[in-house]
Order: sequence, then C-alpha cells, then structure tokens
Amino acid sequence: MSVPTSATSPGESLFHRLEPLLEKVSKPIQYVGGELNSQTKDWHCGGHGPDGEELTVRWSLMYPDAYEVGLPNQGVMILYEVLNEQTNALAERTYAVWPDMEDAMREQGVPQFTVDGHRAVRDFDVFGLSFSTELGYTNMLTALDLAGIALHAADRGDDEPIVLAGGHAAFNPEPIADFIDAAVVGDGEEAVLAITQHVAAWKAQGRPGGRKELLLRLARTGGVYVPSLYDVDYLPDGRIKRVAPAPDATGVPWRVSKHTVMELDEWPYPKQPLVPLAETVHERMSVEIFRGCTRGCRFCQAGMITRPVRERSITGIGDMVSQGLAATGFEEVGLLSLSSADHTEIAEITKGLADRYEGTQTGLSLPSTRVDAFNIDLANELTRNGRRSGLTFAPEGGSERIRKVINKMVTEDDLINTVAAAYGAGWRQVKLYFMCGLPTETDEDVLQIAELAKRVIETGRQVSGRKDIRCTVSIGGFVPKPHTPFQWCAQLGVEETDARLQKLRDAIRSDKRYGSSIGMRYHDGQPGIVEGLLSRGDRRVGSVIEAVWRDGGRFDGWSEHFSYERWMRCAAEALGPHGLDVAWYTTRERGETEVLPWDHLDSGLDKEWLWDDWQDALDETEVDDCRWTPCFDCGVCPQMGTEIQIGPTGKKLLPLTVV
Ligand code: SF4
Repeated sequence: MSVPTSATSPGESLFHRLEPLLEKVSKPIQYVGGELNSQTKDWHCGGHGPDGEELTVRWSLMYPDAYEVGLPNQGVMILYEVLNEQTNALAERTYAVWPDMEDAMREQGVPQFTVDGHRAVRDFDVFGLSFSTELGYTNMLTALDLAGIALHAADRGDDEPIVLAGGHAAFNPEPIADFIDAAVVGDGEEAVLAITQHVAAWKAQGRPGGRKELLLRLARTGGVYVPSLYDVDYLPDGRIKRVAPAPDATGVPWRVSKHTVMELDEWPYPKQPLVPLAETVHERMSVEIFRGCTRGCRFCQAGMITRPVRERSITGIGDMVSQGLAATGFEEVGLLSLSSADHTEIAEITKGLADRYEGTQTGLSLPSTRVDAFNIDLANELTRNGRRSGLTFAPEGGSERIRKVINKMVTEDDLINTVAAAYGAGWRQVKLYFMCGLPTETDEDVLQIAELAKRVIETGRQVSGRKDIRCTVSIGGFVPKPHTPFQWCAQLGVEETDARLQKLRDAIRSDKRYGSSIGMRYHDGQPGIVEGLLSRGDRRVGSVIEAVWRDGGRFDGWSEHFSYERWMRCAAEALGPHGLDVAWYTTRERGETEVLPWDHLDSGLDKEWLWDDWQDALDETEVDDCRWTPCFDCGVCPQMGTEIQIGPTGKKLLPLTVV
C-alpha cells in the first residue's frame, strides 16, 4: 500500500489539501472539526528550552471508528480535555476515515490528520488509541498506514510517534503487540499526565537514547506496558510457556499494573463536553456517576477490570450536569456508569435533577439499569420532563439456572414485578437483553427466554388492561473475555450458536397468543468468533489482523463491512504455520495452570480467586456484591492500594439560582 507523506512542516494545517477531497466523499462534515468546545492549541504552547529544545508534548487521540461512534466516546473526551489543560501539552482528535475518504487520501497523498488542527498525526509525539472493542484493530492499521507511521513498532524511527493503546481491550494487548509501542491499562487521567511528564523531561534533555530510551523509561514506571521489552516463549503444543522481561530490559517489572483514579470528584471531566457537528450515536451529554462495579457478573469484563466501586458525590454530579448543560446546550443528560441505579444516592440524584429542570426540555436517562435496582419512583423521576420511551433491562440469561452460573442474581419474579410496575405506570415497550452461548448453557436455557418474554407480555396486558404491549428480546453472542472467571471457558461455535438462536426464534414465532407482541433481534455467531479470537489471542494473532487488513478488512464492527470469510481465510493462512487455528483460540477450554497471554497485565484480580469463581460458576454458586457484604478477597483493593468509595453522603441537590 502506498504511504502518503506530509509535505507540510510539522504542525502546519493540511486543510488546504483536505478541502478539495471533501466534495467527493460521504458525510464530509465529519472531517472538518471546529465543534463547540473543541480546541486547537498553539503547536509550541510548551515553549522551548535554553538550547532550543522542543518542550511541548503533543498527543493525537483516536477512537478507531467512524466519527459518529468515536466523537461521543467519554474516554477520549476526558483525556482530550485533561491534556489540553496542561500548559506544556496539547491534544487533538482523529477518527477512522470511511473507505471512500481513505481512497481519496491515498490518491492525493493526504496523510491521516486530526480534525482539530488538521495536522498530520505523524507530527505528534504520542498517538494514543482507545479500544473499547477489539474490532477496531484493523482501523488502527489503516490509520497508521495513512499517517505514514511504520505498521510494526520494530520498524519505527525516532521521528515517529509513540503508538499507545488504552481502553478495555488493552487489558490484553498481545494481539496488537507488533503494532503498538506501549499500552496503558486502567483509568487514563493520571496515566496520560504521568506519561506527558516523562516525554517532556526526555525532550528537554535532548531526547537521549531516542525512542528506545523513552520506552524503557516509561516501562520502568511499572504502569506502562511496552511489549517489545517482553519475550514470549511457547510450549511445543502451542500454549505459552512464559512471558518475561527481555534480557536487556533491566528494571522493567514482570507484571504491569493497572491505573485506578480515586476521588472521582477531583476529576470532573469532561467539563466542556464536545458537541458533534454531524449525527452521532448519542445526542446527549453524559456524566459518569460512578466507576467500577462489584456485582460480580462473571461474563462482564468491564465490571471485573474497573474494581473497586468509586462514586462521584451527589453534589459533584449536580455541578457537572449544570456546567455541562451550560457549555453545550444539550437537552438530555445520561447518568453514566456500568449499572447506574446502583449509586447509593440515585433516588436523590434523579429527584434533585428532575426538580431542578422541571418545566424545561432537559431529560434524564440511565443508560444501564439493573432489573433489581430499578423501581418505579426512579422511572417516574427520569421521565418527569420527557416522554416515556422504551425501558431496557438485561437479565442476560434466560433461565434461573444460567443466571446463577453467570452470577446475575435476578430472579424471574424480580423481572416480572419490575416490568409489571413499568407497564402499570404507562410504559408500552420493554426491551430485554440476553446472551447466547454462556458456559454450561443448553437449548433449554435459551428457550426459557421465550417463556420469560411471554410472561412479560401476559403481565403487561393484565396490569395495563391493553393489548398493544410489546417486548423486544435482543440477544448477543457471549464472548469470553480476559480477566474474568470465564477467561478459561470454551466459546460456543458459530453453528451451535446459530442453531440455538433458530430454535428460540421458532419458539417465539410459533406462539399464537404472544408471538406477535414479541420482537427478536440477534446477530449470528460469526462476529463473536472473530471477537473471541482477538479477545483471548496472543502475539501470533497479530499476523491474522495484518493479513485481514492487507486483504481490505476495515470497520469490522460494522456488519456491512465485516467479512467472516476473510477472517477465517486469513487466520488459516497465518496460524497454520504455528499448528494453530481459530478453534484453538476460541472453542478450546483452558486448564488451570495454562499461562494466559494477559497474565503479565495486572488488573488486581487474583488468578486463584478468578479460578475459584469459575468453579463456583460451574457449581451454580452465587457470590455477593462486596459493596454490601464483607470483602470476598478478589484481590483488587490490597493489590492496587484502593478501596470502595460509596455514599450515602446525605447531601441534597439544591435548586439552581436563576440568573
Ligand atoms: S478486594 Fe474486596 S472490597 Fe475490593 S473489590 Fe475485591 S471483593 Fe470488593
């Protein structure tokens, strides 16, 4: 592939070269930047040292998906603002360009650019990518190639940026180890500031030892993983024998720790949320009301890797909402977290906000709500200023038995009582989210989803006295994730997943009384197997990603671009020489002593505890939430020096003074 080069001087805008392309591509607005609250700082804002050393640390931040998905991403938005507040740093954003724009850029030699200053990504010091899903990996390769940055970290020169991965997928960065220089696991706010200071010091010293020295310095902090400084040995059967610091990587830790931000009130970001120019997936501002979750759902990587729970205070939330609304003009506020109704003061928060914005257009939403934490008072507060759109709950498993396996302690009666309350209070539409392919699952467990949905409709009709009640059942394929108790389990194959979903569909459709009131949405099993390969893959999977990308793979998270055939073909070619295949990575159950590719990335969770929890899953034994029961020694708090931070504070939200 051709690699465009920047013909401008570093930091100069490329807009004059980009502009002629805009009329030829779809949705050109996504490339122009200038959103409300976006920033373009002076390229030399950090000044120069006595001998003319460059002191500014420049970050380009990428969410490796299209603008419409990437712009609302909270992680990128937070880091963008945190970095831009530093006098010696600047941050700009870049997103994945659509294939039509990629073609135009290649044709005209326009490199990957930031949407803020339209500067070449290659001119920045650090190229940070936030991966919430592994399906963004091929988009990273497009961006690197378009930027004119060597695809392989080993081939990069001193004048190329440090390519840094973060986000949840970075908890197993091994499949992209060849392409990134470094990865950070955990919360990014403090980590990006620490990295900035190390880069600034290295630049001020005249960049001693080039990028190799900088990476070594970062790795020695213990909080930045530099894959090239670790060697991986394999056993004859393909499993990993050991991952260890390379002989010349002195002072580099055997395990790299995750970062945990305590005191969320001290990090009220984003203070000035970005307002998109083009349509995006979320047209609202979000305030993160707490971080972490200790409910202990065994499939949930987000819950496991973000422990412990740290709440933002009710007053901190109130301040962020009022500041954010004033800065953006949005009319909807999402109270964000992994399970928002679990905040110890959620009732006071929603009531306080609903009171405060009574009579205005401002609506509230809780994007993730557990069935057992939901109550009708909460729902009424949420809809006081808006309309009653659909409610979504996630029982995840169809049968009581499988919900014990996954530790989702929701009984059928909990669910029925909750939806009855919702239908009784005027809602007409409830969406239920489930997974297919969970460990120990049988056809019977999945067919229970149909029975549950029928009970939901029946109850809804009874309590509301109406026939137009609807329930949509949405089903995703389960993908085992690193750092969870299910990291050892066998993933369900494509054919088995599809057959099980077909049986469920038949069971719903054939029901004459309720079938027409139940909608069913599901994806087939194919994307899940690719996600599974990338989630639990090791360094050898990197060659699969590269082969797929060279074959044209782009935007794998989009069904219209995703090609299962391409992934399987490229995987067979790339893994064959190692004596491995996709099934080895996905549908194979791992043993207790197997070295897992991510064991040297420390999420704080004890591997022994995770294994015991896996055994508890097989025994259908549930584990409580440590927020309300004694600590059950998952290992995170002592390992990371953290603690649970929850209320209630007893404070109330005061009405805002009208100016
Ligand atoms: S160490 Fe104990 S208190 Fe901390 S998250 Fe784990 S179980 Fe909860």
